[in-house]
Amino acid sequence: MIHLILFGPPGSGKGTQAEKLVDHYGLTHISTGDLFRYEMSNDTPLGQKAKEYMAAGELVPDEVTIGMLRNKVNSVPATKGFIFDGFPRTVAQAEALDKFLAEKGEEITGLVALDVHEEEIVKRILLRGKTSGRPDDNDESIIRNRIDVYKSETTPVSDHYHRIGKSHTVQGIGSLDEIFQRLTGVIDSLID
Ligand code: ADP
Repeated sequence: MIHLILFGPPGSGKGTQAEKLVDHYGLTHISTGDLFRYEMSNDTPLGQKAKEYMAAGELVPDEVTIGMLRNKVNSVPATKGFIFDGFPRTVAQAEALDKFLAEKGEEITGLVALDVHEEEIVKRILLRGKTSGRPDDNDESIIRNRIDVYKSETTPVSDHYHRIGKSHTVQGIGSLDEIFQRLTGVIDSLID
């Protein structure tokens, strides 16, 4: 099976590209951000747990996130594999994912990061905030906090996969199609 981690800072275009990639490769898309927003919109206990963290631009605690991810993966009946978007976001999540896949006799195929510089990201998120209805997209101090959390907690995840030769980066600036071509260039070389 193919298990890809689509990586990059908030607002780097992971969600948009993930949608195109799942169509192209026939994989299942799992976005932990989308899963939390779904739980919140249904006011479930999980949604209630995540709410305050998301509003502040902090990470939801690992045990909550990892448990949700496991349940989601286990609920998908048959698939060629997964595109993980917004997960893993900490080294503990990466280790939990590696272990969880190993228990199934599977492993991460590769991590592909979208490289986008900070000012572009802030601009994109503020623009998205005008239509996304996401409170965490409308406040520049919360956006900056998400970027700080990304730098301190999340960038070590790409080092984790870099150490085992599984981390790749593509330029995340350009047209949607250009970026998609760059991603498929890398992914095709991983799965051939
Ligand atoms: P973005 O990538 O634009 O920040 P996401 O939808 O991926 O948007 O995430 C939104 C918020 O959801 C994060 O700021 C965080 O609070 C929470 N979240 C999503 N994924 C995770 C995760 N893997 N671990 C912890 N918190 C998460």
